[in-house]
Amino acid sequence: MAFVTINKTNFEHNIKTLTQKTGDVSKIMGVLKNNAYGHGLEIMAKLSCELGIKRAAVKNLKEAEKIVHLFDEVLVLVDHPPTYKISSKISIAVNSLKALQQIMPETSVHLNLDTGMHRNGLVEDEYLLALEIIQQKKLFLKGVFTHFRSADKLDSDYFWQESNYQRAKVKILSHLNALGIQTPLFHSCNSAALLRQNGSFSDDYARCGIAMYGYSYLPKTYVDCEFKPVMSLWAKKLSTRVLKKGQKIGYGGVYKCMEDEIVSTYDIGYGDGFFRYDGFGELYTADKESIVGRVSMDSLFVKSDKELVCLFNDATMLAKHFNTITYEIVTKISPEIERKII
Ligand SMILES: *Cc1c(COP(=O)(O)O)cnc(C)c1O
Repeated sequence: MAFVTINKTNFEHNIKTLTQKTGDVSKIMGVLKNNAYGHGLEIMAKLSCELGIKRAAVKNLKEAEKIVHLFDEVLVLVDHPPTYKISSKISIAVNSLKALQQIMPETSVHLNLDTGMHRNGLVEDEYLLALEIIQQKKLFLKGVFTHFRSADKLDSDYFWQESNYQRAKVKILSHLNALGIQTPLFHSCNSAALLRQNGSFSDDYARCGIAMYGYSYLPKTYVDCEFKPVMSLWAKKLSTRVLKKGQKIGYGGVYKCMEDEIVSTYDIGYGDGFFRYDGFGELYTADKESIVGRVSMDSLFVKSDKELVCLFNDATMLAKHFNTITYEIVTKISPEIERKII
């Protein structure tokens, strides 16, 4: 059976590297949304907890409930307002005034501020009303945060948004003071934004996702640290055949053997979350064996007869081939595939 390995040593290395930027491991909120970027929610939550991470962020309540026992707090980033009473250790990101109006009294919340991304969050005109609703409904304001739209692009855009955030922070603090609401914790950085802090990290914590899993989008010349990919995807052989020169394989027969070749099928396809390679352009396994022909729903072809092939131990090449980002390559890997810690 196909399986995923999770490299614990690399994960630990990545957390240590991020800790150099935050100053303390407790200032990292581990972003474990979407099945921990496809790595496996419960496995990654346990490893994070063992390494001293106290807070996690997830996509929805369903994910939060699976891991809340391991953390001091779990922040739900993009769910709809819960209609039932939830654990006080689970906080809900408030993405609009409407959501705030719908949320159950006495829920823990983080206010999301729209400081320029215009995806989710409140605009400046809404701050005061939002804080008044929080007070009336006796919500617990645990955090106030924003999200940068282009922290991984080395231009002035990030500095523009960062200064919007600093102004928003001042505004919120003055409203809080006037209303007598206890000061919450502030957070803004994702991985890329954190890596841009050079001894200047001033938030209460950072929300780190992709760098924990081993990828960074900032030029190596700019960030003096290295991240190591955590996930590898392995497939097991189904069948092997020796093909004659001129024979074509798979759907559409798009791959034609240029000589007599040994080709095997392996038990991963696009139904398992591996991208559908259409047979054009060059694509290789981690050991440089050629992936050939179109990827089927449940299998693919590799010019190999090995029992196991490692389809990737670094998602960068696949992301390039499919014109996407490593986030998408790893997040798509089916949760049905077994995860093994190595
Ligand atoms: C996904 C996400 C993050 C993590 O971003 P990375 O680039 O993976 O570090 C942080 N904050 C929010 C709001 C997110 O949605």
